[in-house]
Amino acid sequence: MKIKFKTQFNEAKNLLAAAERIVIIPHHNPDGDAIGSALALFNILNNAGKNAQVVSPNSYPDFLRWLPGSNQVLIHDDHQEEAAKVIANADLLILTDFNCLDRVEPLDANIKAAKAHKILIDHHPEPENFADIIISETTVCSTAELALHFIHGIAYSAYLDKATASCLMTGILTDTGAFSYNSSNPSTFEAVADLLRTGIDKNQIYANIFDNYAESRMNLLGYCLNEKMIIYPEYNTGIISLTQEELDRFNYQPGDTEGFVNYPLSVKGVIFSAIFIEKDEYIKISFRSKGSFPANKFSANHFNGGGHVNAAGGNSQVNMKESLEKFAALLPQYKDALCANE
Ligand code: 5GP
Ligand code: MN
Repeated sequence: MKIKFKTQFNEAKNLLAAAERIVIIPHHNPDGDAIGSALALFNILNNAGKNAQVVSPNSYPDFLRWLPGSNQVLIHDDHQEEAAKVIANADLLILTDFNCLDRVEPLDANIKAAKAHKILIDHHPEPENFADIIISETTVCSTAELALHFIHGIAYSAYLDKATASCLMTGILTDTGAFSYNSSNPSTFEAVADLLRTGIDKNQIYANIFDNYAESRMNLLGYCLNEKMIIYPEYNTGIISLTQEELDRFNYQPGDTEGFVNYPLSVKGVIFSAIFIEKDEYIKISFRSKGSFPANKFSANHFNGGGHVNAAGGNSQVNMKESLEKFAALLPQYKDALCANE
């Protein structure tokens, strides 16, 4: 990334200098990048003697609980009144890894009503205008990479310790699938070099994230690949779907299906994949693509969602069978784009 955001970093520096109560908020269902970036900022701000706290809209998977500072995260779902109070009393909010307030439900109303100044650090396209300082850049691999620029930009480099670097490394590793996608930009590796210089144990961090699964998750993955993956070879597309009954059968824990959506992309020729997961009120869908096929536009056009070109999400308000039929029926109109590289 070219050095930019000079004005924003200077303004942020002034806000930070004046702030007495800083609250950092990742998006709902925080992933490694959202909570990793939030905890990195938590660690570095506290290293700098500031009073910072992370408030997460809801819980996050076990494999991210080792992150330094994780035991001090205030989970709104479990402590609603306290979380609301902390946000209302903050004089600075730092928002990580989301581009619209819908993504931070149910804290969107609290954030809107808060008197605090707001800084957004995010890498999703077209952020809505809900922060005073918007640090938004889509060419970075992750919010964590951008958060590292932020740290240097506000002249906090001296506070970059192993704890902070481990959190940022987690954001980078999770948002790039350990450098298997979304990481062709040299700047990502320059950021990683910076982090490695703090002395972090990269292999241990990798193992914490990717070799830390419950046996039930591996069984569920086996079931998905064996019985639930459908490949549409004529459209270079693959899907997986899971109903509540199936999740229950495999003793599903939050986070267990993390990464499943990528598996159809490992089938030769497949460039577009989706996973449909039944929730109480709707079907949650994740999309992934390779190359230029715009998963975010597909999701925005048909499934109330959005995201990045190669990683997007959305939802469907009809039942699983109808959702899958709707998806399959859409593919012919995308045949040219899906088969462009054949
Ligand atoms: P995931 O599939 O991991 O839940 O989400 C992948 C990406 O898609 C996220 O980084 C986020 O940008 C986007 N995304 C996921 N769900 C939604 C959604 O419901 N609405 C929008 N606008 N974006 C989403
Ligand atoms: Mn991210």
